[in-house]
Amino acid sequence: MIDCVFCKIIAGKLEGEFVYQDDEIVAFRDINPQAPVHILIVPRKHISSLNDVKPEDVPLIGKLAIVAQKIAKEFGVAETGYRLIWNTGENAGQWIYHVHIHLLGGRRMTWPPG
Ligand code: AMP
Ligand code: ZN
Repeated sequence: MIDCVFCKIIAGKLEGEFVYQDDEIVAFRDINPQAPVHILIVPRKHISSLNDVKPEDVPLIGKLAIVAQKIAKEFGVAETGYRLIWNTGENAGQWIYHVHIHLLGGRRMTWPPG
């Protein structure tokens, strides 16, 4: 198995607080939340970063947004607002090299981001 924290969570080898699961995508709470709602939306397929997404992954990548929309509604932030963040590479602060989208909500956020 690839030595990947998110693959381990998906495989049940590391604990994760799941809030959504289907055959292609899971979502779980970030271990170090930066907002009252901080969920990571993660494809089961191991793709290291957005740089490695291929044309055949387009339906899967699009589905991440639909899952985000569903979670935002469930967590009551769809109307108040939320932010999706997709860190890619070192300058963006990507720490886990398994594609994921952060969903942050429940507080007012600033722009530009730090
Ligand atoms: P990124 O900087 O976009 O790669 O973000 C990785 C995120 O994963 C960070 O916000 C971490 O707090 C989070 N994280 C790291 N390990 C775990 C874990 N075991 N369970 C849940 N979230 C995690
Ligand atoms: Zn992985």
